[in-house]
Amino acid sequence: MKERVWSLVCELIWRMRRGPCLAVLTLHRVGADLPIQPDAVARMFAYLRRHFRMMLPSQWTGALSEPSAMITIDDGHEDAHDVIYPLARREGVPLVICVPTDYFLRDRWLWFDRLNWAIAQCRGTPQVRVGGATFVPDHRPSVVAFKMHVKSLSRSERDAVVEDLIRLVGREAPAVMPKEYRPVPREAMRGMLATGTVELCAHSVTHPIMTRLDDAELREELARGRAELEAFSGRPVVAFCYPHGQAGTFDDRTQAAVAQAGYRIAFTSVPGVNRPRSFDPLRLRRIHVHPRLSMFTRELAGLGGWRRRLAGAD
Ligand SMILES: [Zn+2]
Repeated sequence: MKERVWSLVCELIWRMRRGPCLAVLTLHRVGADLPIQPDAVARMFAYLRRHFRMMLPSQWTGALSEPSAMITIDDGHEDAHDVIYPLARREGVPLVICVPTDYFLRDRWLWFDRLNWAIAQCRGTPQVRVGGATFVPDHRPSVVAFKMHVKSLSRSERDAVVEDLIRLVGREAPAVMPKEYRPVPREAMRGMLATGTVELCAHSVTHPIMTRLDDAELREELARGRAELEAFSGRPVVAFCYPHGQAGTFDDRTQAAVAQAGYRIAFTSVPGVNRPRSFDPLRLRRIHVHPRLSMFTRELAGLGGWRRRLAGAD
C-alpha cells in the first residue's frame, strides 16, 4: 500500500516536472531465476514506450528537446538475446548493447565472471581467505563486500586475487564458458542488428577501470573497442559505456580521451536523469533497473537522490 502511494506521488511529481530530458535505463542480467525477472522488465519497457520518445545513439541530435529515453544492456550476456530482446520486440522498444570486444568477439571470460565462477565453486566452504580478505561464500552480503574489495584493486592486484582464488578452488575455469557466462552468439547479434532496433555501444576491449590506465592504454581501449565493433557490424559506433561506471571510474582525463576517440555520447552508472541544467553528453547518468517500477519513477521525479542520501549512498 505504502509502495502504491509512493508510486502515485512520484508519478504526479514527474508529470509536473515533465520536460526535455534523457532517461537511460541500465540492464545487466535478466532471467526467471535472477533478481531481475522478465515481467518487471516488460513493465518498465511498456512504461518507457508510453511516456518517452525511444531513441538509439545514432539518432542523438546533440540537444535535449523532449522527454526521450534509451535502454542500455551492459556486457551482452546471452540473456540479452534470449530474454531481453523478445520482450523489447513485444513492447516495441529499441536496445543498445554495450559489449567489451575481448568478451564478445574472442569469447574471453570477463574478469568478474571468472571471479563469480570461482566464488560459486567455494559454496559450502565456511570461510575463504584470499589476497588479505575473507568472505563467507554462502552469505550474500559477505560475497558482495568481497567483490567490491576486489573491484577496488589495481588491475594486477585484482588479477592476482582472482588467480589465487582459482588456485584455492583447485581447478581452472573451463576454457569454454558455461552457458550462464557466455556472450550473445555473434550470429544472433547480427540478426538483432539487422532489424535496425538494436545498436552496439563500445564498452572497451578488456573492461578495465579507465582511470587506472595510462594514456596509451586508454587510447587503445577506446579506439580498438570501437574499431572492432564497427568492423563487426559495418556501422558507425557513436556511444561509449564506461566499464563499472561509478564515480571514480571516469574523470576529466578519461572524458577528454573519449571525446578525442570520436564518441558523441558516453554512459556512466551514476544514477539519475539527464536534464538540460545538469546535462553532459559524455557523462550521461543512468537509472539501474529495479524489480519495482516505482524506483524508476522515483528517479524520474528527481527523488532518487534524496532517497539515496537518506540511505547514505550518495
Ligand atoms: Zn560492463
